[in-house]
Formats: sequence, C-alpha cells, structure tokens
Amino acid sequence: MKDFFKRIASDIKYYFSVPKCTSCREPLDKGGLPLCRECHKAYARTLDRQCSLCGRRLSLCSCAGEFLKSHGISGHIKLFRYDNREENRAANSLIYSAKSSARKDNIDFLAGELALAVKFNLQKIENAVITNIPRRPGAIRKYGFDHAQRLARALAVELGIEYIPLLNSAAKRQQKKMSREKRIENASFTLTDSPDLTGKVVLIVDDVVTSGASMSVAAGKIKTLGKRIKIYAVSVALAYRDEFDYVYF
Ligand SMILES: [Zn+2]
Ligand SMILES: [Zn+2]
Repeated sequence: MKDFFKRIASDIKYYFSVPKCTSCREPLDKGGLPLCRECHKAYARTLDRQCSLCGRRLSLCSCAGEFLKSHGISGHIKLFRYDNREENRAANSLIYSAKSSARKDNIDFLAGELALAVKFNLQKIENAVITNIPRRPGAIRKYGFDHAQRLARALAVELGIEYIPLLNSAAKRQQKKMSREKRIENASFTLTDSPDLTGKVVLIVDDVVTSGASMSVAAGKIKTLGKRIKIYAVSVALAYRDEFDYVYF
C-alpha cells in the first residue's frame, strides 16, 4: 500500500514537471537519465573517441599532458573531449546543463560515469579524498550554486569516500577567453582548511579542464597539506583545441 502511494506521488510529480532531455529538449521517460534514448546514443559515440596519447577511450586512461604532469598531477581522469562539433552536442549539453541548472538527474548521471572511470583507473580508492575547483564567487552569485562542488559531492557518495571542501576561489574575472598565462594569474585560491593529507590521494574535480591552469594552481595549494600527496585531476571533459590536444597541457 505504501508503495502504491509512493508511486502515485512520483507519477503526479512527473506529470507536473516532466523533465526534458538536456540536449534535444524532448520530454524524458521515467528512466531517470538526463538524455533521451537517441541523445544517449550520441553521447555514447562521443565516448568512443580516443586519447591522442595512448589510443584508448578517454575514460579508460588517465593520461595527463605535460603541463599537468609538470605541476605534480599524476593523472587526468575524464570522460570525453569537449568541442563545438554537432555530433558532440548531446555530450556538451550535459556540461551546459550542469553549469546553468545543476539538475540533479544530470549531476547524478555524470557522477556515476565519473565513478566508473575513477574505479577503472585507480586500483585503490580507500586512501582517496575528493575536493573540487571552486566556482568563481561572481558566478555563484549569478547561478546560486557551485556545480563542480555538487558534482564532487555526488562522486564522493558514489565512490564511498570523503568529500572535503579545500579551496575558495578569489578569482575576479571570467577566464573563458584568457590565455593559459593569464589564467594562471587569475586562478587564485585560498585554502579553507588545513587537514593533514599526508600519504593521501586527492581527486580534484572540475567540469572541464581547458588549459590546466586552475588545476595546476589548485594542486600546488593542496600539496602544501602534507607529504607524499598524490593528485589526480578528474573532469567531465577535456577541452578540445586541435588534434594534438595534449600539446596544450
Ligand atoms: Zn534528446
Ligand atoms: Zn590515454
């Protein structure tokens, strides 16, 4: 009986606010995914694209480019390459949606996908903790939330490990059109806490890694929290620059 009422309640909720596919805006079925069937297929095709360093699917490797590695980041776990091509639309829509509305179905979906990639790439996660690149204060005022933090929290739940908010952003300007050098100057973080992370693996979550500037600056801050801290960048996407994308990292 209780289940019956629960089902009625969920049906009513569904009909009053039928969720739409983040990509094509068609109403979704009750499967709980943020993409409709067709767009989910398109997303899966985007996942099939390969890493330019090792040739495997991007989600099945943790290759990091030289720039990240030279800043003490051991690996970069990511799902797909972000670019403006039409065939990438469904995958990209997951990122727009996270940034603009932080829809729960979308955040949970991305956290589930990232959890699989993390488990595949790291043999041991018991020793790991999760944090995130904080959103700019101006953007939090505009949207009312920090999507990277929501994603990091959901990922921590999926993996059953601790989430620690370690960084505050003091960045003043939007970095969208900046060069890497300018981004490094602009990426200013302060530590919110100083737990001893000696011997830990720290996963730093962000939606997209573009130049690697924020990740590198964040990694430098976190490394001051103990000895032998191993850092992994974890992001939904890797921004696409050209076929030699890692040249920029
Ligand atoms: Zn769709
Ligand atoms: Zn690779």
